[in-house]
Amino acid sequence: MIIEKAQELGLCFGVKRALKLLQDATERYGEIESLGSVAHNRQLVEKLSRMGVTPVGHIDQVQGKILAISAHGTSPEILEQARVGHIRIIDTTCPLVRKAQNTARELAETGFDVIIFGEAEHIEVKGLLGWAKGRGRATLDAKQLTGLKGKSRRLGVISQTTQPQASLVEFINQLVADLSSSVREIRIINTLCKITQKRQRNAAKCARQSELMVVIGGHDSANTRRLAEACSQIVETRQVENSSELDSSWFAGKHHVGITAGASTPDETIEEVLAWLRSPNCDFSVRGK
Ligand code: SF4
Repeated sequence: MIIEKAQELGLCFGVKRALKLLQDATERYGEIESLGSVAHNRQLVEKLSRMGVTPVGHIDQVQGKILAISAHGTSPEILEQARVGHIRIIDTTCPLVRKAQNTARELAETGFDVIIFGEAEHIEVKGLLGWAKGRGRATLDAKQLTGLKGKSRRLGVISQTTQPQASLVEFINQLVADLSSSVREIRIINTLCKITQKRQRNAAKCARQSELMVVIGGHDSANTRRLAEACSQIVETRQVENSSELDSSWFAGKHHVGITAGASTPDETIEEVLAWLRSPNCDFSVRGK
């Protein structure tokens, strides 16, 4: 019986970079706070808490003078509030998210209404809306934009970095069909994270070769959920946060199991799941890097 790891899985470069910046900051300043969870993964948040990083829900709740911004980024309003409150910012915004923020700002400054393909409540999207300077709208459903008919002349379309490419294409097709007759210009700028796209492709490839996929990552992690959704369209898929959620009955009669993990899943958690699979619970041999 074989378990095969997807070609690339687990921590992405943006999250690794953020962790390094946070480690440096805690070594330099001791205890610091972060705006929201630095990553949507309980194990990683606990690890950061041991390092001295405490999440706060809102900038008004900051007790100290050092505040970390997560890899998802934040809005210019929050940065301004920090400046006024003399709070030092440790900005771990992923460079790919920063690029999307700059795109939103440039579009708004050049007279475009900015459409963000994404979940309006996601922390990255909230930040992007801030950079769109009041000209942004976030949605996953192009039909919700028909109210812009006759109201907007120029539309700029960007995306939350971790959305699936196929869903973005579908969204754009619908938007063009609904609005192209009333809008003078529609400018589409690809702000998708290529690393996420590659991982989604690798996970799908792994799923096609497997009888069961195990996707490891936080239940509130959007990119883990999307990996699980993509795999579940191909083969039976289970999403677990860690090895304690595994159930040996899932593996009965299976000879080939695939494994992947979200961009904020620590290596230790992946190893823990692999150790469980190698144990007498299942006794799989593991292939892949
Ligand atoms: S998933 Fe992509 S955009 Fe998000 S932090 Fe990782 S590298 Fe950056």
